[in-house]
Amino acid sequence: MIGIIGAMQEEIDVLLKQLTGEKLYTYGTRKFYAGYLKEKAVVIVKSGIGKVNAAHTTTLLMEHFDIDYLMNTGVAGGQDVKHNHVVVSSNVVYHDVDATAFSKNKYGQVPNMPESFFPDITLMNNAKVLLDELNIPYTQATIATGDQFVYHPSQIEKINQVYDDIKAIEMEAAAIAHIAEIYHKPFIIFRTISDVLGDKDQHLDFDKFLKKAANLSAEIITKYIEKFVWIA
Ligand code: SAH
Repeated sequence: MIGIIGAMQEEIDVLLKQLTGEKLYTYGTRKFYAGYLKEKAVVIVKSGIGKVNAAHTTTLLMEHFDIDYLMNTGVAGGQDVKHNHVVVSSNVVYHDVDATAFSKNKYGQVPNMPESFFPDITLMNNAKVLLDELNIPYTQATIATGDQFVYHPSQIEKINQVYDDIKAIEMEAAAIAHIAEIYHKPFIIFRTISDVLGDKDQHLDFDKFLKKAANLSAEIITKYIEKFVWIA
């Protein structure tokens, strides 16, 4: 089955509404909604915000369900892209990890883990085909994760000093990818831009655009599953 993770309720609401044959499983404080999306077996869960919540929830998902691959849906802060633009992960990095005191580690790299997490190439190519077909504005680019709502110029500048091609910044994707790597599972991330980095009133825009942006990512997940998933 496909594991679908969103950090916030707004990010999974549309998917839950379309779920059929729903069965609820509770592990710890997390609620897992198993059922069918477009007649394909899925399990949907809200992780909560931030890296630890995301890693905890993804681990529970891996331990309790027979997951073929992971999809993360949600919103993000955008760089050089507009509201409601979609960013599909070409790769995912941590922007707040620094063990470079030991010279074998690159900035963003958790020791003994890759410095960047790569989604499954087939999932990525399928995503491209789908978004082209739907005529949805999107970019395949690096998504950067950290435990910060990024809005201040000093935060943005620091991240861009290290990475030169970040289009979306958010708080869960790399943690989900990290767990996917540990369990050797394919993953893909779809994030729609809710707020644009550096815009005046960026945090207010987040609230304003959240629902629409969250719904777009979720709709893409549904369409992806309808078109490309063959697991009943
Ligand atoms: N409104 C929330 C906080 C939201 S945090 C509260 O009640 O406290 C922002 C969420 O959206 C995270 O899940 C993150 O993944 C994503 N996000 C959107 N824009 C972001 C930005 N500019 N920086 C970091 N995360 C962002």
